[in-house]
Amino acid sequence: MLESLYRLVRDVPDFPKPGIQFKDITPILLDHRALGQAVDEIVAPFRQDGITKVVAVEARGFVLGAPAALVLNAGLVLVRKPGKLPAATRRAEYQLEYGSDALEVHVDALGAGDRALIVDDVLATGGTAAATAQLVEESGARIVGLSFLIELTDLGGRARLGPGRTVHAALTYPRRLSCARP
Ligand code: AMP
Repeated sequence: MLESLYRLVRDVPDFPKPGIQFKDITPILLDHRALGQAVDEIVAPFRQDGITKVVAVEARGFVLGAPAALVLNAGLVLVRKPGKLPAATRRAEYQLEYGSDALEVHVDALGAGDRALIVDDVLATGGTAAATAQLVEESGARIVGLSFLIELTDLGGRARLGPGRTVHAALTYPRRLSCARP
């Protein structure tokens, strides 16, 4: 059933730098059935978990996070690059597979009563997700899980997020049959 999604992920070699194999999800976005399936796969393990906020990471995380929030009847929290969010923010530094950067979230976007699901398109080294998790924890919210459309399993992202996390990925590279929550 995931075969059609795998078929629509386009490998772009040497983007944005030599040596990076970019996983391009735009062919999935062009097909509304595939997009719907991708969102279903992202939310599936968390439907009964009382998620109150989907925390989506700029920029492709927004595309998947917004429909995921609607499906889960949850609010949507935007995690953005520095200087993009207009109101008061908190910030976390992180390492990317190709470079380093920082992420910000509005200080009033999440609070102690929230049950958060972090959503992004790709889990690579885990730096982005770890920084996002830090932002969520600093807000006092509980992280119920992290869900990705794609996991690049050789890059150690899951380990970097720590053993206590519930990490889900619909599609894994190298491919394996299933990648359920631990
Ligand atoms: P990382 O922090 O290394 O886990 O990188 C994850 C973030 O970088 C996600 O927001 C992805 O959109 C992007 N990313 C990293 N590596 C790739 C890749 N090979 N293909 C597509 N996006 C990637």
